Amino acid sequence: MRWQGRRESENIEDRRGMRGGAMVVGGGIGTILLILVMVLLGADPQQLINQLPQQPGAGAQQEGPAEASPQEEELKKFVATTLASTEDVWNQLFQETGGQYREPILVLFRGQVQSACGFASAAVGPFYCPADEKVYLDMSFFDELDSKFGAPGDFAQAYVIAHEIGHHVQKIMGISDKVAAMRGRMSPEEYNQLSVRVELQADFFAGVWAHRAQKASRILEPGDIEEGLRAANAIGDDRLQRQTRGQVVPDSFTHGTSEQRVRWFRKGLETGDLKQGDTFNAREL
Ligand SMILES: [Zn+2]
Repeated sequence: MRWQGRRESENIEDRRGMRGGAMVVGGGIGTILLILVMVLLGADPQQLINQLPQQPGAGAQQEGPAEASPQEEELKKFVATTLASTEDVWNQLFQETGGQYREPILVLFRGQVQSACGFASAAVGPFYCPADEKVYLDMSFFDELDSKFGAPGDFAQAYVIAHEIGHHVQKIMGISDKVAAMRGRMSPEEYNQLSVRVELQADFFAGVWAHRAQKASRILEPGDIEEGLRAANAIGDDRLQRQTRGQVVPDSFTHGTSEQRVRWFRKGLETGDLKQGDTFNAREL
């Protein structure tokens, strides 16, 4: 994928230096002082201690962006550039239909993160939270894409980002709210089927992004399409089973089969036409 030297988005929230979405309090004195202050303010000390972020030990080094490897910084640049490309494409697409796109924030984190949708660990993979309109990404998922799912390559990574952005587009279009409202009136099986349609549409939107980005700035290199299709194929729910109990994971619903994901991504990629992406009324998925 041709991305180097292009605009990087400023809508990146770098929380890699934090744990569980809160700043690391620092072991020892800082923690004790904080507990003291909270207790003086009337908090229950036992509860406070339970709420403290897990610390591997008193001498633990605080993680932070400053300690990121050059490879990781390069990856962050790639993410920011891909995000910028989705902004350009979706700003344009919304303008064309007389609408207005709201650019989402992409949160980079390590290990675990607090979102408006709840607490999540990196094990669930990247996800979008409609409540705060943010995409959450632990970049170590990109290693997994390669090592675990057999989908290496920068365009495979871009596809993952574009899919999550697709969920944001659904939110702005009012689709997410409609789906959420229907949830209470459906059986779990019906809702699961609806979730598949949501996921396949996000794949379609990822394809539309690639189509438009290619048209506007020729991002694709030989082999890129294959990388994207491989990723769509690899992380279908028949191969991706990563439910984590007790945590809110907005993107953990059924994604559709690998074959369905490839088909809808390809449809968006080939047509670039938003009208073709109504997975909700499609007879065949
Ligand atoms: Zn999804």
